[in-house]
Amino acid sequence: MADLDAMALVLDEYEDALTFDVDAAARQAAAIEDAAGATELGWRARLLRADVIERRGELAAAARTLSEILDWATLHECRRVVARTHRILARLYRAMGDLAANLDHMLQCVTALDDTTPVSGRIACVIKLADAYAETGSMPAARERYEQAVALAQANGSTRRLLMALNNYAYAEYDCGEPELSRAVLARLRSAGGTLDFSTLDTVARVESLLGEHRAAETAAREALRAYDTGSADEADALADLLLTLAFVQRRAGDRTAAQGSLDKVRELCAERSLVLVGVQARLEQAELHADGGDFERAYHALRDFQDAQERLRSAQRDAQARNRQALFEVAEARRQAEWFREQAYRDPLTGLRNRRYVDEHLPPLLRRAAAEGSPVTVAMLDLDHFKRINDTLSHEAGDRVLVAVAGLLAGFHPGVRDAAGFAARLGGEEFLLVVTGVGVAEAAFRLDELRQAVGGHPWRPVTGELPVTVSVGVSATVTEITQVALLARADAALYQAKHDGRDRLCLDPDVSVPQRRRVRDLI
Ligand code: GH3
Ligand code: MG
Ligand code: MG
Repeated sequence: MADLDAMALVLDEYEDALTFDVDAAARQAAAIEDAAGATELGWRARLLRADVIERRGELAAAARTLSEILDWATLHECRRVVARTHRILARLYRAMGDLAANLDHMLQCVTALDDTTPVSGRIACVIKLADAYAETGSMPAARERYEQAVALAQANGSTRRLLMALNNYAYAEYDCGEPELSRAVLARLRSAGGTLDFSTLDTVARVESLLGEHRAAETAAREALRAYDTGSADEADALADLLLTLAFVQRRAGDRTAAQGSLDKVRELCAERSLVLVGVQARLEQAELHADGGDFERAYHALRDFQDAQERLRSAQRDAQARNRQALFEVAEARRQAEWFREQAYRDPLTGLRNRRYVDEHLPPLLRRAAAEGSPVTVAMLDLDHFKRINDTLSHEAGDRVLVAVAGLLAGFHPGVRDAAGFAARLGGEEFLLVVTGVGVAEAAFRLDELRQAVGGHPWRPVTGELPVTVSVGVSATVTEITQVALLARADAALYQAKHDGRDRLCLDPDVSVPQRRRVRDLI
């Protein structure tokens, strides 16, 4: 037990972390999955494994595991796991460039959140939702969510989350072309205390540069580089990004030589580390730099170079997206097929009704549940009268058509009471079973007798000519716990009685309680 508690704490920490060592996380997840099995803890460990798979870029494999986890968590109303699964799905779609799906999953994530998720995790989700709004161009909604995250972080005394919310908020304002608004958020960030990390300082530099505060901008850009040096940043392109900001700031301050020096360093880093995204942006910055110096010939060539690189990047992204989409589609398709096969295994192929296997697996738990809730269950066994005659006089095929038509009448059966439920099954040959819940036996039996009459009154002439088609019905019911075998045996005995009494009639199990019996007699 103590072990499981310790494992839960390990998972808590991973779920709260923004970055982690994926190999160590994969080992921990596997160990917890082994120890915790199909418990909530085991599913949370599986979710950590899916998180790792997604971080490694194996999107289709991650999607497959995530959809299994979502099924389990939804069924067990485990909101914390539902929320976290949507969060990882959102990240997965964002990695594919599908910003609308990213927003959709973040909305579902935040909707599923409740007190079972620690408050710092809830704040992180609200920030991601705000980011998702900002990235789809919905700044009013983004602002509302950033403010909500800020308020939550303040109320909770969580400085780390507060800085994260304000940092992303400031970047979103900068990115949508609102440097003034961005600066106002940055001022709030400064007054919130704590040291600014390199990505915040990077935003500060760009905003100040856009506002014409060149000296301050360069100071911020250099501070960002120092913060990166001392920090433990693990993003491959962060350093190149910071140097690109320095080049941008220097160019806008009119120091083209320094800007060219910084830009050369960016390009070296990009070549060394194969950084495609920053490499494309560096080409645009190069074109701007030539243009600022009045060298339009070289600016033109640099711009063409930028456009070619951007097109190559886009087409590589499109290819990757197409591959990922195909893989995701296959996951969804495989799930649909598996569901279809599972469903077919519970259906009678001739009539499409439920089969005996379905009855054996679903009736016992249905009886237990109903007994626990004290709600009545009525079962009816139905057997066609003189069915052999139809087969022998006409044909086996005509017999089959009768079976299909009777099944249609059974499938359409409803006792006419709002909360009633149940199912119709073909037990074999020309024997059927109807199970009705949520209705008293008197009402159910009354409706079942109407069904019997509907079978006899069906326009059979096109199928059987002069031969009538009728059915005998044996009904039993319970409000207390009883086994399936015992209950069906009673209905079977009542059916035998109906046959014995002359067929085309409904007989009620004599053990069904007397007041109920009297009411049925009154009704029929
Ligand atoms: P009773 O009124 O006593 O029930 O008479 P019955 O002729 O219906 O007798 P019984 O229930 O014993 O007969 C069942 C017949 O149903 C036997 C078999 O030939 C026929 N049967 C069983 N399965 C099928 C099927 O899938 N299709 C067709 N056409 N006939 C079937
Ligand atoms: Mg029979
Ligand atoms: Mg029969």
